Amino acid sequence: MPLFDKYGSIESRVGLVKKLIGKDPLGVEFDDIMGRTRGRIGNRDIILAGTNNYLGLTFDEDCMEAAKAAIDAHGTGTTGSRVANGTYTEHVELEKALADHFGMASCIVFSTGYQTNLAAISGLTGKDDIIFMDADAHACIIDGTRLSEASTIRFRHNSPEDLDKRMSRVKEKKGDFFVIIEGLYSMFGDIAPIDEFLDVTHRHGGYLYIDEAHSYGVFGETGCGLAEAQGVMDKVDFIAGTFSKSLASIGGFCVSKHPEFEIARKVMRPYLFTASPTPSNVSAALAAVGKINSPIGDALRENIWERAKQLHKGLDDLGYDLCADPSPVIAARRPNEAICAMEWNWLLENGLYVNIAVPPGTPQSTSLLRISLSAAHTEDDVKQIIEKFAQLKDVQGDLMADMMKLAG
Ligand code: PMP
Repeated sequence: MPLFDKYGSIESRVGLVKKLIGKDPLGVEFDDIMGRTRGRIGNRDIILAGTNNYLGLTFDEDCMEAAKAAIDAHGTGTTGSRVANGTYTEHVELEKALADHFGMASCIVFSTGYQTNLAAISGLTGKDDIIFMDADAHACIIDGTRLSEASTIRFRHNSPEDLDKRMSRVKEKKGDFFVIIEGLYSMFGDIAPIDEFLDVTHRHGGYLYIDEAHSYGVFGETGCGLAEAQGVMDKVDFIAGTFSKSLASIGGFCVSKHPEFEIARKVMRPYLFTASPTPSNVSAALAAVGKINSPIGDALRENIWERAKQLHKGLDDLGYDLCADPSPVIAARRPNEAICAMEWNWLLENGLYVNIAVPPGTPQSTSLLRISLSAAHTEDDVKQIIEKFAQLKDVQGDLMADMMKLAG
């Protein structure tokens, strides 16, 4: 079967991990999700600490009620694209609510966060333009640049100096410069110096596009994200986000201070040629925007930041090699994929779910135990998470010995 020969190396990686832990860590199946921070596998209750459910709104009563009411009013699916039969009042209301929240001129809602980047990046850039992309960009940003006719230049992660150098090197500028960064980076949990990127980008006459998928809801005075937290939101050209994290649903959005962004609806292929998100998805996200931009959102943000500091300190005190300062994403570097898989499995078998993150999904080919916190975690939950990581330290020698034996 030559078609499948190219999967040889991935098959042997998966094979080794399965030999070590008896399962595929990328195929975990929960028998039940009981709430925002608890799941069950078999008869084992598990603390969920890898869900990206940053504000815990997936089980918020108002968000759930809004989703149910939308099904009652408008059914379970839209069965069509936004430009055909797929634009409902819910989509229009949500676009208005998000544009208002950001104080931006325009907002377009998409079917997923992934498609948001595919659509906006490929739709906003053309043949003569040059995209400058952070070296640690998420896969869907990379795929957006692949779909674009523009050429792409990568700059060193989180380095406005390197961006400046690469923009300066372009001898003949035929089209526009389009710079793409993220707010909070999803794997290491490090943040971009947006103000410095803005400075460099605009000095070279370019546009700045920020994916705030992981920062919307948790950063900024009203939860708009990192650009708001750094006091520069009004200067950013485009901010993209997803509904699948703080907004507790499925879908994505891009807001812009440029009213001309509206015309892009007519050219963005991953917007034009796919079904729009369902009324229930959109209504849940709309209810979540209302929460985020309210005193309830303030309280949720206060708690998630308290928990982030508590967890970061706890793991740091235990001697874990953490990738960044405290934030809702806290990742510990592990020596290699096999050890990481053994440790991840031990945590799961002992009641704690975190993410295992390995190349090519991680920067610098690192293997990570990645935690994403939720505002729904309590101080006691975080104490328990720290305790599990403390116990893991005690068994690391045994796990290593098992690994050597099993790997043969
Ligand atoms: N952007 C970033 C930075 C992401 O991490 C992700 C997914 N985790 C996405 C976009 C895609 O979002 P979605 O899963 O909602 O499609």
